[in-house]
Amino acid sequence: MPPATLIFPAIHFLKTASMLDLTSPHPYWFVKNGLPHSYPPLANDRTCEVAIVGGGITGAMIAQRLAESGFAVLLLDARDVALGSTSASTALLQYEIDVMLVDMADQIGEESARRAYELSYRSIDELEALVQRTGADCGFRKKTSLYMASDRKKAKRLAEEFRARRSLGFDVRYLDHDRLRDEFHLEGVSALVTGHAASVDPYRFCHALLQDARRLGAEIHDRTKVVEFDVRADHVRLVTNRGVTVAAQQVVIASGYEAQSLLREKVVDLDSTYALVSQPLEDLGPWDVDWMFWEAKEPYLYLRCTDDRRLLAGGEDDAFHDADRRDAKLPEKVKRLEEHVRRLIPGLEWETEFSWAGTFGTTRDGLAYIGSSPEYPRCQFALGFGGNGITFSMMASEILDHALRGRTHPAAHLFRFGR
Ligand SMILES: Cc1cc2nc3c(=O)[nH]c(=O)nc-3n(C[C@H](O)[C@H](O)[C@H](O)COP(=O)(O)OP(=O)(O)OC[C@H]3O[C@@H](n4cnc5c(N)ncnc54)[C@H](O)[C@@H]3O)c2cc1C
Repeated sequence: MPPATLIFPAIHFLKTASMLDLTSPHPYWFVKNGLPHSYPPLANDRTCEVAIVGGGITGAMIAQRLAESGFAVLLLDARDVALGSTSASTALLQYEIDVMLVDMADQIGEESARRAYELSYRSIDELEALVQRTGADCGFRKKTSLYMASDRKKAKRLAEEFRARRSLGFDVRYLDHDRLRDEFHLEGVSALVTGHAASVDPYRFCHALLQDARRLGAEIHDRTKVVEFDVRADHVRLVTNRGVTVAAQQVVIASGYEAQSLLREKVVDLDSTYALVSQPLEDLGPWDVDWMFWEAKEPYLYLRCTDDRRLLAGGEDDAFHDADRRDAKLPEKVKRLEEHVRRLIPGLEWETEFSWAGTFGTTRDGLAYIGSSPEYPRCQFALGFGGNGITFSMMASEILDHALRGRTHPAAHLFRFGR
């Protein structure tokens, strides 16, 4: 492609990107794994078919998918790859979206809610297939997931949720108090249980996907920040922090929570969240390494084991995202999480070995933003917000593979901007 300004002098608009402090200084997966791979910063001007901005789990999944589909891909990340939210994620992979099916049906209509849940359900299988296809060594494990109600009001809603999910043929069981105690040794009013869930080390998964994308021909550069998006008539010109440019026919923006700074439309609310891991536990007592737990309660708790048998607990969210305030609250939040886990599994001997905090983004209807925004012609966004961020990344890779071929995915409208 010749130098753009000579042929298409009309600049549609130009936007600059700003960065956030996404995690406390040492996110767990980075400490555990170090830097398995790094990539050279972009040093010379380039042209490409698809430029991807962001090398977290979303950008990595999209790069792998598009490279596999034959697109010529160039990916840029401002940090070392995978060191955004992905390095802090607790990575429970669940088909249940933050907003329950019955509540989502009230918000966006039954048909759309059904479609969103079906896609989410399918994405668990697709994540497993992707791990197998790429041979990613990332601790992926299928799990049994429990969603527990601790009071009668929530239990009533859970019973409705159970009927709604069952009517769609999902793998789900309803446990009353006695069965919950017999099967899982937990004290709650009731719970929904499914075997259709998994967990993963998101940081290793991200690195493995980028390696596979590179094997398939993708070019990857980290420590390269896109500071300007300059949309022209037939391409987008990205300018990096070193003044190097990329002229791309199409751009995918997978820059996580930092993407909000590019948009006038408010798409995400940013909160703070907290997590801890124990030492590896030989003896898990009444708990099972393949169980995951989350609670229908505010502030909520979730719990799972890592592939090296550590308890991993998180929750205690705060409705602000100031990084200093967030990180200062970590010791107090760890104490609360510990108390919560000890109440849930009394008698189990464990202690916290590591804790961290992160910024966390949610949307009103619990769904991601995937696709083009009228604010950015020639660009596609992949913003997998919420507690299902990673399953949304999976959906984004499929939806954008369609979009970049000029096709419309049948479920694309669910994730559209301006909804
Ligand atoms: C504590 C915590 C727990 C979570 N638990 C779960 C869970 O259990 N299950 C789940 O599915 N999800 C969970 N999430 C959400 C999930 O982790 C995120 O949705 C996911 O990691 C987002 O990945 P991403 O690639 O979109 O964003 P990121 O990992 O943040 O990657 C975006 C990348 O874009 C880069 N970037 C930004 N701006 C620019 C620019 N201008 N130029 C170049 N690069 C740029 C950044 O450097 C960054 O590396 C959790 C998140 C947190 C913080």
